[in-house]
Amino acid sequence: KTSLVWFRRDLRSYDHAALFAALKQSDAVFCVFIFDQAILEHLPANDRRVHFIHQSLIELAHELEKMGGSLIVRHGYADQEIPRLAAQLQANAVFVNHDYEPQALLRDQQIASRLNTFDCGLFSFKDQVIFEKDEVLSQADKPFSIFTPYKNAWLKKFLAEGSDFYCKPYPEGNYAGRLAKYPDTSIPALSQMGFEDLPRSDLQLSGGMRAGAALFEDFLSRIGNYEVSRNFPAIKGPSYLSVHLRFGTVSIRHLVREALHCVRIAGSIQGAQVWLSELIWRDFYFMILHYHPRVIDHAYKPDYDAIQWEQGEHAQNLFVAWCEGRTGYPLVDAAMLQLNRSGYMHNRLRMVTACFLVKDLGIDWRWGERYFALHLNDFDLSANNGGWQWAASTGCDAQPYFRIFNPITQSEKFDAEGKFIRRYLPQLARLDNKQIHAPWKLKQSELQSAGITLGKDYPMPVVDHDEARKQTLTRYAVVKSPD
Ligand code: FAD
Repeated sequence: KTSLVWFRRDLRSYDHAALFAALKQSDAVFCVFIFDQAILEHLPANDRRVHFIHQSLIELAHELEKMGGSLIVRHGYADQEIPRLAAQLQANAVFVNHDYEPQALLRDQQIASRLNTFDCGLFSFKDQVIFEKDEVLSQADKPFSIFTPYKNAWLKKFLAEGSDFYCKPYPEGNYAGRLAKYPDTSIPALSQMGFEDLPRSDLQLSGGMRAGAALFEDFLSRIGNYEVSRNFPAIKGPSYLSVHLRFGTVSIRHLVREALHCVRIAGSIQGAQVWLSELIWRDFYFMILHYHPRVIDHAYKPDYDAIQWEQGEHAQNLFVAWCEGRTGYPLVDAAMLQLNRSGYMHNRLRMVTACFLVKDLGIDWRWGERYFALHLNDFDLSANNGGWQWAASTGCDAQPYFRIFNPITQSEKFDAEGKFIRRYLPQLARLDNKQIHAPWKLKQSELQSAGITLGKDYPMPVVDHDEARKQTLTRYAVVKSPD
């Protein structure tokens, strides 16, 4: 029996559900990755994620070669390339890991029916989450819409069987002799696919399993502080693993196993517990997308679709100011510059900037969601949508709409010394730690002694927060059933 393993969001050679299943059930296993034109054609030429994938594939190919196999890499439309390659190899089966996004599900269905025409099956496996779809339900067998009971049920189910059951690594090595070599293993250059070669300094991130493992190792040394440190964007608090989770260069089972191990170690308990919760949020949003695919372009709570957002040229101008980090609110602007320059944004700042766009500027959350989707290295439909709907108060278990982040207070609390702001807005560097959060409130003499002319070196605020707050409460009053 000949099989083909199609790598997608799972660019690793170890602890890989589909690869393991294929090896176990076949005599010869070929491996493939497709640079899918259907996805690439929507991306800008300097997209960092394509670089990340490219780097990851070089390493993956090398690892598969060490195991006796090879990686076929093609550039084209996956729905044509996969059936073509499977037919050419006379494969009986194509193995993949589940992709939960509605468009991917549709693509997989189409491919499955094409494969069926020559008696080749498509077999799909759970790999990128611990519990998926309907695996964690309420006692009444209903999907959860609130995170905390979901988390409790998740933990209860997990702990009943334990880490060895749910997080046991797949031992590919036992069957590695079944990996097959393919004559052409060249990887198309980025330029061949219409992408620019970005200098390393612009990229600020390294793809591949080794880079993911190094980040995780570094994080494990500070996981005990995570509960506190994760809130302060100027310090190295979180794991920075999201892009590796997105492309599967780390294994979720490995991360959960290690996090649980830390939960049991004195000094790491609280931090590790909170971090584990974040990984459970990830499963939660995948589950929400499974049950409510309409959230892609609608509010989770239907009443909230009635909200009238700002429109027209003024809204467009405000939106562009937000995108470019020119709102006049230093923390918001520094956060947007972090995103634009690195493709990463700290979680606290994602909440602050999203809330600012929706509740200070009155702009439809979907505009911001799309902007993040284009720029975040770790963009994931379910988590991004969940995060935006949380901030806009339109989602499941979202913050109540009358709870509106004050961008100045957030700045004073989470970047008290202005370190993060100074990193991205050096023109404000000479303001002291108290002044830096709201420069427009300063006297002319104070601005002058810091060498700042507002409106020239740094913008005046595009809105007044207190005024915007009142307008938001009016805007949300159309909602029939407030929280
Ligand atoms: P850590 O703090 O180290 O967390 C570890 C992992 O847990 C993350 O890598 C991620 O996989 C998961 N995680 C953490 N928080 C969440 C969460 N709230 N929801 C789901 N999973 C979570 N996360 C994405 O992975 N992709 C997105 O597109 C995305 N968009 C977001 C948009 C908004 C408006 C908001 C408020 C949050 C968004 N998040 C998204 C969640 C979170 O901000 C990022 O996962 C986190 O900042 C990534 O950094 P890290 O890996 O250092 O996180």
